[in-house]
Amino acid sequence: MLNVLFIEDDAIETMKLNRTVSKLQLKHKITEAKNGEEGLDFLKSDEVLPDIILLDLNMPKMSGIEFLEILKADPVLKYLPTIVLTTSENRADLLECYRIGIAGYVIKPLKYEDYEKKLESVFTYWDNNELVKA
Ligand SMILES: [Mg+2]
Repeated sequence: MLNVLFIEDDAIETMKLNRTVSKLQLKHKITEAKNGEEGLDFLKSDEVLPDIILLDLNMPKMSGIEFLEILKADPVLKYLPTIVLTTSENRADLLECYRIGIAGYVIKPLKYEDYEKKLESVFTYWDNNELVKA
């Protein structure tokens, strides 16, 4: 079971992820944040830190890249594996994310069935990893 912080501004995308998790009967706990700012507020609260972060890039208030910069400058939060989940195939975004420090860059397929398969493999992969468990 993974504790996942899902940072995404689009309510439809959030529905899609939750639907995938429940349809595949995955037991992961998903915490939602609507932008980088909300994500940071959660991480700085007294809540247990997530095992992984799934991060959208294009968001109002604080973009995914701005969020990453702050996360990776923090002595504790920088250890949280962060996987970008985006529709952006922009190579500059991809390079910038890896430069700052991400654990993966996943492009969301347009077809729901493909999305489901891809997300399932992401969850399975991370479930098999040793995690920070802060
Ligand atoms: Mg977005």
